Amino acid sequence: MKSEINILHLEDNIYDAELIEYILSSNNLNPVIKRVDKKDEFINSIEHGTYDLIISDNTLNNFTGLEALELITERNIETPFIFVSGTIGEEIAIESLTHGATDYVLKHRIERLIPAVNRALKEFEDKSKLKWTESELRKNEKLYRLLTENASDLISKLSSDGIFLFASKASKTLLGIDAMIGKSIFDIIHPEEVEGVRSILLEIPKLKTKTVEYRIQHLNGSYFWCESSFQYLEVDDNINLNEMIAVIRDISERKHYESELLKSKAKADEMNLLKSNLLANMSHEFRTPLNGIIGFAEILKSELKNKSYIDYSSRILSSGKRLLTTLSSILNLSAFESEVPNINLASENLVLVVDSVVETFNDYALNKELKYEYLPSNKIIIVNIDKMLFEQALTNIIDNAFKFTIKGKITVSIKVEIKNNTNFAVVSVTDTGIGISEINFDYIFKDFKQVSEGYSRKYEGLGLGLPVAKRMIELIGGRIVFESKVEIGSTFHIYLPLTEIKINDSSNNNFTNDKPNLIKQKLSEILYVEDNEMNYILMKRFLKDRYIVVNASNGEIAIELISKKIYPIILMDINLGSGMNGIDTLKIIKQDVRYSKIPVVAVTGYALPSDRDRLLDSGFNNIITKPFTKEEIINLIKKSIGESKWNQKMI
Ligand code: ADP
Repeated sequence: MKSEINILHLEDNIYDAELIEYILSSNNLNPVIKRVDKKDEFINSIEHGTYDLIISDNTLNNFTGLEALELITERNIETPFIFVSGTIGEEIAIESLTHGATDYVLKHRIERLIPAVNRALKEFEDKSKLKWTESELRKNEKLYRLLTENASDLISKLSSDGIFLFASKASKTLLGIDAMIGKSIFDIIHPEEVEGVRSILLEIPKLKTKTVEYRIQHLNGSYFWCESSFQYLEVDDNINLNEMIAVIRDISERKHYESELLKSKAKADEMNLLKSNLLANMSHEFRTPLNGIIGFAEILKSELKNKSYIDYSSRILSSGKRLLTTLSSILNLSAFESEVPNINLASENLVLVVDSVVETFNDYALNKELKYEYLPSNKIIIVNIDKMLFEQALTNIIDNAFKFTIKGKITVSIKVEIKNNTNFAVVSVTDTGIGISEINFDYIFKDFKQVSEGYSRKYEGLGLGLPVAKRMIELIGGRIVFESKVEIGSTFHIYLPLTEIKINDSSNNNFTNDKPNLIKQKLSEILYVEDNEMNYILMKRFLKDRYIVVNASNGEIAIELISKKIYPIILMDINLGSGMNGIDTLKIIKQDVRYSKIPVVAVTGYALPSDRDRLLDSGFNNIITKPFTKEEIINLIKKSIGESKWNQKMI
C-alpha cells in the first residue's frame, strides 16, 4: 500500500465524490480526502491545510472550479490541480490549463482519472525535488563564497601558465594586492624558486595534487615563505588541464621556528659532543694522577714501619678511593645521560667475576673491623653479561654494604634460583648495617637521593650508586631486588638470567678464592707498554714478587720486544704520547700469530662506557682503568691469563 495522499476535493455532488474516492482507493492510491463545496470552506482549507492534490468540479453553487484555481494561483500554492467535471467544455478546459491547472478529466471518461492523478503527483514530486536541489545549491554556493572570502589563505584559480583567474580577498592581506586577476604567479615567486615551482606544476597532472614551499613577494617588495597546494580542476572525472586551484598559505612563522629549532638542535649536538669529549678527557685527567696517589699510598702503607705514618698513608689511600668512587659515579651517570652505551655481552664465569670484585674490599673490611664473608658457589655458573657493567654495579652495592654497616658482617654469596621456570644466577650482598625503612624503599633508586640528606647527613656518597647500578644491571638483562629491616640489615640481590651450570672440577679451581702460590714459582716476565715513568714504577712495585715487569716506553719498542720473546700477557697504556697509540700498537702485535691467543689488557685513564666499548672492539681482552689497586691489577693479570686458558678449553 502506498503512503497516504491528502486530497482536497471541491465537489457538491456527494455521489460523484464517493465515486472518485472509490476509484482512487481501488487503484491502490490510499487517499485521505477532505471534501468541500463552498467558496469560504475552500479558502479556509487552502489557507490552513496542506494537500498533495486538489480535485475540483467545475460548476458548484455560487462558485466555479476556475475561481478556485484563481484563488490558489493568487496564493502561490503549487499543489497540483485537476478538474473533474461533466460539464467542462473544450474551451474551459484549455482556459483552465492556461490558468495553471495540471490536468482535466471528463466525468464520462473517468478512467483517465488515475493516469492523470499519477502524472500530476509525479510532476509535482519532480518539481519539488528540483526546487530543493536549487535551494541547496544556492545555500552551498553562499557558504563556499563565505568561506573563500573569509579564509586567511589565499584561494585562487590559475590558468595552466600561472595567470590568476580568480583570487579571494586574502590577496590583499597576504600580498598587499587587491586585483590579482590577470597577473602571473611567476612574477611574484622568488627568482630562485620559479624554476622549481614551474617543474612541479608540470608534474601535477600525474600527481593530481602537490604541496610546494617557496618564497613569494609582497607588494612592499619583501619576500616571505608560503606553502601552496596546487590541484587541477576535475569535473566528472575529467581533468581540466587549463585551470588549477591554488591555495596559498603564509608559513613564514613556522619557517622561523623550524630554523630556530634546527639551530638549537645543531647547538645541542655540538654541546653534546663537547660534553662527551670533556667527560672522556676529565676521566683521563683525573684518573692518571689518582693512579699515582692511590698506588703510592698503598705502597707506603705496606712498607712503612711507623704506626702514625701507616695511618696517614691509609687515610691518603681511603680519601683517594673515595674521590675515585665519586668521580666514577658522576662520570657514569653523565655518560648514561648523553648516550646509551654499547653493551658487550659475553659468556662469563660469574664466580670468577664476583671473586675479583669481592677481593677489592678485603682491605676495607680489615680497616673497618668487619667480618667479611664470601660464599662462592661450588659450581661453574655461566652468565651472559657485560663484565665491566656488572663489576661496577656489584662494586656499588658492596661499597654501600660497607658504608652503612658499623659492626657485624658483610656476606657476598652466589646461588642458583628457579623463578617462573627460568634459571637465575643470584649474587647477594647481605649486611648487618643500619637497614632501610619501608617508606624509603622507592626513594633509594632515584638519582642523588639519600635517606639521610642535607647538613645532617651521616654517610658519605652522592646518592648515585644504586641508580647507576640499577641501570647497569637492567641494561644487561638483570634485575636488582632488596630486602631490609631498620637496625637489622639489608640484602641486595642481583638476578641474572643463567646460561649454563657446570660442575666444578679441580682444573677450574682458579676462579675460587684460592690464591695460587705464585711466589714460589719462577717469576715470569710480562710486558707493560707505558710512556709515563711514574706509572711504570708503580706497576713494578705492585707486581714485585709475582712478575718481572718489562717496560716498553712506546709502541715501536713494544713491537721490537715481542718479536724477540713471547710474554704471557701484555699490559698496554692507550695514550702513549707522541707516536703510535695503544690501539695501533695492539693491531700490529695481533698480526703476529704467536700473539693471537696472548691476552692484551688495556691500562687506561679513559673510563667512560663508550671508551671501554671502543677498546674492546679494538681487540683488547680486558681493560683496567686507572687508578687501580695492587689487588685489582694482580687479580686481573691472574684472571686474564686464566681466562685465556679457560676460553681455549671452552673452544
Ligand atoms: P650513596 O650510597 O652514594 O648515598 P646510593 O644511591 O648508593 O647512594 O644509595 C642511596 C641511599 O640508599 C643511600 O644514601 C642510603 O640511604 C640507602 N642505602 C643504600 N644501600 C644501603 C645499605 N646497604 N644499607 C642501608 N642503606 C642503604
